[in-house]
Amino acid sequence: MIQEPLLDVRNLRVRFETPRGLLRAVDDVSFSVAPRETVGIVGESGSGKSVTMLSVLRLFPPLARVAVSGQVLFEGTDLLRLSEAELREVRGAKIGMVFQDPLTSLNPALPVGEQIAESLRTHRGLSRVAARRRAEELLELVGIPDPARRADDLPYRFSGGMRQRIMIAIAIACEPKLLIADEPTSALDVTVQAQVLVLLERLQRELGMSLIMISHDLGVIAATSRRVLVMYGGWIVERGSVEEILERPGHPYSAALTRLVPDLDQPRDEPLVPIPGQPAPVVGPVGGCRFAARCAYVMDRCRQETPPAVALATEHISLCWLSADGVRPAPAPIPAGGRR
Ligand code: SF4
Repeated sequence: MIQEPLLDVRNLRVRFETPRGLLRAVDDVSFSVAPRETVGIVGESGSGKSVTMLSVLRLFPPLARVAVSGQVLFEGTDLLRLSEAELREVRGAKIGMVFQDPLTSLNPALPVGEQIAESLRTHRGLSRVAARRRAEELLELVGIPDPARRADDLPYRFSGGMRQRIMIAIAIACEPKLLIADEPTSALDVTVQAQVLVLLERLQRELGMSLIMISHDLGVIAATSRRVLVMYGGWIVERGSVEEILERPGHPYSAALTRLVPDLDQPRDEPLVPIPGQPAPVVGPVGGCRFAARCAYVMDRCRQETPPAVALATEHISLCWLSADGVRPAPAPIPAGGRR
């Protein structure tokens, strides 16, 4: 039996009006997430990965002049067609979000237990006492020691890693079916990063949620996800299993990202290689491949013609003229110990 996707994004386009012209932040993006599945979205800043997920919940800055088209089907309902009041019922209750910086997301003047309880009272209609009890349970679930006492502390009394755990407690308070984690570990040091990833993975399994993990770091995606979407210039330039993309990438951008994954167990002889150049915003009409200015494999036609989507294997697709010619770019060397 074919399982219906929990989230089915179809032909999503997001345009921002800017003084320089129309910014094509997300272009014709389609993907789905099955119940209890973890999907990773990877790309540099400005690739469109965060805007894609902000569009799912229409969480744009209030003054942004933005046009969104396509469909965002969540349990069969198109979220783009919901009123603001209807969407508020979905946010927090059915779809939770964790952002990069817990300090700006948490209310600095409200004890953390209150902030968790607030969501439970709003969406679940719990009494003050029941919401407080549940808030303490949630703090314990995310690994905050002595939760009954610490629920009364303000956010500044916690370390960065602990604050991110509190954000996760708020996001899962109403047992959402989907959790979107946008760069949840970028502000943390490496050890704490690993602990938060392990926590997210455990909660995803125990609560039976789907998880969308967004990161600029392919290593973070590889640690949590089975399937990955690689975004560049508002396009999904490659999609496939984590193994395929790490070991046999089709798109030169994905291949470049594999060279940025540190191997902590077996350091390589050569240093990590940053991708030359900067991602440029896609403003106005643009022809050809959006990665052309930075691509080591660029050919004449790349600058003129939009690259085709080429199937490299089952569920492995690359948007590249190189793939159309049957050529693969070189990924980072596989360490002697096996998988990165
Ligand atoms: Fe590079 Fe051309 Fe492929 Fe774009 S289409 S990634 S420029 S080889």
